[in-house]
Amino acid sequence: MALIVQKYGGSSVADAESIKRVAKRIVDTRRAGHDVVVAVSAMGDTTDELLDLAGQVAPIPAPRELDMLLSSGERISMALLAMAIHSMGFEARSFTGSQAGMITDATHGAARIVDVTPIRLREALDEGAIVIVAGFQGFNRDTRDITTLGRGGSDTTAVALAAALDADVCEIYSDVDGIFTADPRVVPKARKLSVVSAEEMLELAANGAKVLYIRAVEYARRHGVLIHSRSTFSSGVGTYVLGPGMTLPDGEEGDNMEEPIVAGVATDLSQAKITVIGVPDVPGKAAEIFKVIAKSGANVDMIVQNVSAAATGRTDISFTLPKTESAIALKALAGDQAEIGFQNLVHDDQIGKLSVVGAGMRTHSGVSATLFEALSISGINIEMISTSEIRISVVVRGDDLAAAARVVHTAYGLDGDSDAVVHAGTGR
Ligand code: ASP
Ligand code: MG
Repeated sequence: MALIVQKYGGSSVADAESIKRVAKRIVDTRRAGHDVVVAVSAMGDTTDELLDLAGQVAPIPAPRELDMLLSSGERISMALLAMAIHSMGFEARSFTGSQAGMITDATHGAARIVDVTPIRLREALDEGAIVIVAGFQGFNRDTRDITTLGRGGSDTTAVALAAALDADVCEIYSDVDGIFTADPRVVPKARKLSVVSAEEMLELAANGAKVLYIRAVEYARRHGVLIHSRSTFSSGVGTYVLGPGMTLPDGEEGDNMEEPIVAGVATDLSQAKITVIGVPDVPGKAAEIFKVIAKSGANVDMIVQNVSAAATGRTDISFTLPKTESAIALKALAGDQAEIGFQNLVHDDQIGKLSVVGAGMRTHSGVSATLFEALSISGINIEMISTSEIRISVVVRGDDLAAAARVVHTAYGLDGDSDAVVHAGTGR
């Protein structure tokens, strides 16, 4: 008998039928003799709808009230799920984040978990109940207010519960079958991975993969929680995310293949590129530019500085950042143009970022050459390049991104034999 934490995303509990299907799945796990703790997201698009409503009554809703509002979404799904389980003849009890002991800092809208004290959950488990916890929410002891963990935060709730309860596995259910070598809607030949390392998963998630949230994977790696990403709509094994020193559960086997050099290809259309033209090529200018941007609150990703033209003594610096943050960054830079002394600003929101991720890159040469050659054969122009120890990223035209992902996927030998099944899902 094991203790299993299961997380169901919004698309898995979108309506009454789905809630009953999830309830059955939970009951089946219980029937198999396991203790079950469930973290559940708000039904379907509830969180977006609540955000929209808030926006209609106030231009900038008060963060405290916004958390109060958003946390109600998960209350609905958790209570309905518990009721559905009751009607199948099993004991289930739902708990809000604060009842579950999900203690966070005081940052509304992006709270960090600082402690988990699942006393009531343990009591309920000891009494034989299935435990249902509202995802995405917590409680701050100083302000005594409800907080939320940031969009997609239910993954983190599940992992934190698994860590605090010392669960055997944290199963994260969504409408996709697991972690793929690429987004199957972009690369139809994408294959499901049976295992991915936590460090690879973090790079994939940071560079556009949406199945798991970065903070949840980080938390799992730090606390030694085994994540199993799988589908609500099939009973097949999904993908295990292994942190350092972790092993697959008994009876599970990974691919028998040798560890591939590249685990996957991630794509991201959410970034824009800003080029600062004619920056005086003297010490301190990059520092000035990025200090201004940091103060604006924008998060810079890739940076490229060109060689300066000898004739002018000026250079261009380009960087990428989330599209949603370009306006504030542009405004901040324009405000300091005279002081910094650059000539012009160019904004480009038609870019796509492609990243190739694999722990095997550390020990293999020629990985980047394969990427560049595949793009060159397809006539796709590279605009920026950046690398980390286990990742190579390039910026291309947004319109070229899907084609680029397909040729690169093929070039690294990642293609599956047949097209991946997509349940028309969002991955959440
Ligand atoms: N309901 C929240 C959201 O949509 C949390 C979650 O789904 O994980 O972001
Ligand atoms: Mg959601």
